[in-house]
Amino acid sequence: MSAELDSLYQEIILDHYKNPHHKGLRDPFEAEVHHVNPTCGDEVTLRVHVADGVVADVSYDAVGCSISQASTSVMTDLVIGKPVEEAMSIHEEFLTLMQGKGNVEPDEEVLEDGIAFSGVAKFPARVKCALLGWMAWKDATGQSLDSQSISSQGGTDD
Ligand code: ZN
Repeated sequence: MSAELDSLYQEIILDHYKNPHHKGLRDPFEAEVHHVNPTCGDEVTLRVHVADGVVADVSYDAVGCSISQASTSVMTDLVIGKPVEEAMSIHEEFLTLMQGKGNVEPDEEVLEDGIAFSGVAKFPARVKCALLGWMAWKDATGQSLDSQSISSQGGTDD
């Protein structure tokens, strides 16, 4: 990667870190999860609201490094308003990029600002930071779908 591209990517990450999108916990939501990345000390509490098969809202509160927080901000931009299936495939695409050790060419059409994390993929310790919010989203979305399919029971088991 060129030094120019590298600094552009760092700028995108810093921008999301300073001005996170969709941050704050909101109602309504079907599932709330808390994920931590102990190796770095990153934490995220994340809520998902799914309506009619669409990711209607993702809200979160996060503490930790710039990569974990910026990545969560980028993720909300990419999945909110998308059908769950499409959002899951974007998740897959980001996962593939982050697990590619820097050898995967990111698709900007799909990942938009997410391509900024392609440089992070070379650093295994930071990959966990970049994936924290995404994993929390997938977990919460799975729980949202489960809760909707058994909503007639109205259980509140923890
Ligand atoms: Zn981190």
